[in-house]
Amino acid sequence: KVVMEKVLWRRSLQLRDQQRAWQQSSEGREILEFRRSLPAYKEKDAVLSAISQNQVVIISGETGCGKTTQIPQFILESEIESVNGASCSIICTQPRRISAMSVSERVASERGEKLGESVGYKVRLEGVKGRDTRLLFCTTGILLRRLLVDRSLKGVSHVIVDEIHERGMNEDFLLIVLKDLLPRRPELRLILMSATLDAELFASYFGSSQIIYIPGFTYPVRTHFLEDILEGTGYKLTPYNQIDDYGQEKMWKLGKQAPRKRKSQIASVVEDALKAADLEDYSPQTRESLSCWNPDCIGFNFVEYLLCYICENERTGAVLVFMTGWDDISSLKDKLQAHPILGDPTRVMLLACHGSMASSEQRLIFDEPEDGVRKIVLATNIAETSITINDVVFVLDCGKAKETSYDALNNTPCLLPSWISKVSAQQRRGRAGRVQPGECYHLYPRCVYDAFVEYQLPEILRTPLQSLCLQIKSLKLGSISEFLSRALQSPELLAVQNAVEYLKVIGALDENENLTVLGRYLTMLPVEPKLGKMLLLGTILNCLDPVLTVVSGLSVRDPFLTPFDKKDLAEAAKSQFSRDYSDHLALIRAYEGWKNAEREYAGYDYCWKNFLSVQSMKAIDSLRKEFFSLLRDTGLVDSNSTSHSAWSCDEHLIRAVICYGLYPGVCSIVHNEKSVSLKTMEDGQNSVNSREAKIPYPWLVFNEKIKVNSIFLRDSTAVTDSMLLLFGGSISSGDHDGHLKMLGGYLEFFMKPAVAEMYQCMRRELDDLIQN
Ligand code: ADP
Ligand code: MG
Repeated sequence: KVVMEKVLWRRSLQLRDQQRAWQQSSEGREILEFRRSLPAYKEKDAVLSAISQNQVVIISGETGCGKTTQIPQFILESEIESVNGASCSIICTQPRRISAMSVSERVASERGEKLGESVGYKVRLEGVKGRDTRLLFCTTGILLRRLLVDRSLKGVSHVIVDEIHERGMNEDFLLIVLKDLLPRRPELRLILMSATLDAELFASYFGSSQIIYIPGFTYPVRTHFLEDILEGTGYKLTPYNQIDDYGQEKMWKLGKQAPRKRKSQIASVVEDALKAADLEDYSPQTRESLSCWNPDCIGFNFVEYLLCYICENERTGAVLVFMTGWDDISSLKDKLQAHPILGDPTRVMLLACHGSMASSEQRLIFDEPEDGVRKIVLATNIAETSITINDVVFVLDCGKAKETSYDALNNTPCLLPSWISKVSAQQRRGRAGRVQPGECYHLYPRCVYDAFVEYQLPEILRTPLQSLCLQIKSLKLGSISEFLSRALQSPELLAVQNAVEYLKVIGALDENENLTVLGRYLTMLPVEPKLGKMLLLGTILNCLDPVLTVVSGLSVRDPFLTPFDKKDLAEAAKSQFSRDYSDHLALIRAYEGWKNAEREYAGYDYCWKNFLSVQSMKAIDSLRKEFFSLLRDTGLVDSNSTSHSAWSCDEHLIRAVICYGLYPGVCSIVHNEKSVSLKTMEDGQNSVNSREAKIPYPWLVFNEKIKVNSIFLRDSTAVTDSMLLLFGGSISSGDHDGHLKMLGGYLEFFMKPAVAEMYQCMRRELDDLIQN
């Protein structure tokens, strides 16, 4: 022990000398100069003394004030300076992998080091960390995984949870676990950092704690709503309330009016944009929504014109465009790259910023362009608070947000873009005023802004809890409902019960709420349980390749496009893929066709002919790789295998895997005279599926059920009795009798004792196969 202490002491002294040498070098002094200019630096002493006196400290300050890069660094520097360097260990969590990576790199360079010396990062599948790494930036998921094997975070001296205002599911979950841990680890320090001023909520959650506000400063930003942008043009907006099944939504109509004789320059540009878009080409919905980000909506053209206007007429300064997600960013980028001005690299530096981009691409965002070149960054809400681009003067805000394709892996796939909150809109606007007075163009009318919610609901209150419940079980945190009742804001009991019930039905939990073997494997795959089940069974039955396509397809925007005026053609195109009553098999065929066409560089043509979205196809392609590497992580797939065999397996097998994943989303098909009526098992609601006159199968498994007047099933596949009996339900829960009874009502055949016995025997064998 004495020897160990000596070694540590000597190492700590070395670290201190290294740090001092850097701080006194000319480069180090230059960086320090910059760091001193950040508002967070002025609070350095206050922060450090608060941390030494309190176990929990909450730090709140404007985006860009230096929380993420400076606060962890202050702690590290002061530990090293007090010759504690070798024994301290600071973990700082980020909600997204891209911020963990870019911040760690920035902090290392501010310390004059390479990544992997005293500063490192760790995200899923990637990381740089060395023997001397004392400050580790990681995603929240990584810290949760560490807690799985190291309940008391042995050796960790400080945990910093960043961006807590986002209220992601993982962060809320982590806070419950840490709150439990604090009394057991009195020397552990917890620091929470947030951009907006909801600090009191967290302070009261943790009881004794200290709040530090870092005062910020931004220049004034001139705000233009859509009606301001349209001022003087031959177009006007008339708001009205649309009442739909989900309540009221504020909509507006874009109509024509007599243009003014003398127009401002921007008004002429906007008018040209709208003229070029020719309103008559669009459906009423797409015509109304300038911020509806869909390649066949006006939004894209409109943004192109506005960007062009800014490039030609406005003062220097970067432009930040807030888009909904990765796929829209890449479509818009393709479009702009073909533009004579916006696509000219000697005039415009066009960049994307989203959660799933490569780190080399990330760095470019912070680069200053050469003189006369304008930087345009197309970003998701990641640029709202987690990444600060220094030189932004103009902001374009589409008003909507969607989880990126990376977030799809975190249990929120297929999310449609939805309106942002007022706080988000203000954050976006604020990005324009960091270096000088700026301009913000909100591409929606003020009445829509007024209808925005104040704050987005925390994720834990608005998304299904199935994956979270599995995680609670895998961390052995006791009763799910008891655990969740201790959250910052607890989800409704009913939502928790639903999730637990679902997990029992699919066989991830047994009747005593304990994790089954299947459940344990599902917790290793950070995807929705139903997708995880398909991936697992696809692996076991050796038909992973097509299953990867199905699972990826369920996580992206519907790849089958139906343009307003070409509905019939589009449906005909889709039906050549779906000759066998399955949307999922149709998707596999469409994807295989695209892949073949891509090999001959004809992917785009293929999509155009078949009414497929190129972006969705590309997204499926990259998600397939991601899902495959998840499986490799769990050790189920050979770590050397990279190539997936072509789709050569039995179509019935794939149907069975789909059935296994989508159960209990099942309905029986009842043939009437004219149409097919569908009866779902859980609640006996009826729905009419008019597209098929006759389906030669008894059952349909479906991904989603949406209620609009009548019930629509989204993404369904017809399955046979035996598929449902063998693969539906909880193979592992052992409740074969109950399962049989439920089906028995429909199938008298299976009530015969001999058949039932044989069935149970087969189920048991399958059960063994899957559980082992
Ligand atoms: P906060 O977390 O409070 O939003 P950050 O610590 O992320 O602020 O950033 C503080 C400042 O550091 C930013 O305003 C920006 O000027 C600068 N900065 C951060 N990351 C980088 C980077 N990778 N390259 C250049 N400057 C950066
Ligand atoms: Mg930050």
